[in-house]
Amino acid sequence: MVMSTSKYLDAAERTQTLEHQENSKRKRILVVEDNQMGLMLLGQLLRAQGYDILQTSEGWGAIDLARDNHPDLILMDIELPDICGLDVTRLLKQDDQTKTIPIIALTAFAMPGDEERSLESGCDAYIAKPILMDKLLRAVESLLSSPPSAFDSL
Ligand code: MN
Repeated sequence: MVMSTSKYLDAAERTQTLEHQENSKRKRILVVEDNQMGLMLLGQLLRAQGYDILQTSEGWGAIDLARDNHPDLILMDIELPDICGLDVTRLLKQDDQTKTIPIIALTAFAMPGDEERSLESGCDAYIAKPILMDKLLRAVESLLSSPPSAFDSL
């Protein structure tokens, strides 16, 4: 009886350890988007791909979340209500705690120079809205699979 209880506990502990290992391998993405529908859709899409999602609709909130949780990647809407997403990116890239986190800019403007402005502010990639999901997922996977050293020089 004691044996079987202890075997059961061992098995439970092993299961918890495996679950913990699986969870710790999951990549966490911070989605910054003030359009609630867009935020919801991006969250659903990325969760369906197995990513853990943090989300906010505000720029200052994004800075707090990034510092506190150090996500593996950030999707950054440029047009935000409180502070421009490019300014949020500059602040994150100046901060030793957050500067290595890759950032993908999302913008509604398909204007000439917009991609350059995004990259100048420190974004690692740029995707114009309307977002093509295949393109977004490829960019996400590409940035997540790059070795961290690739970002040290940025
Ligand atoms: Mn917006």
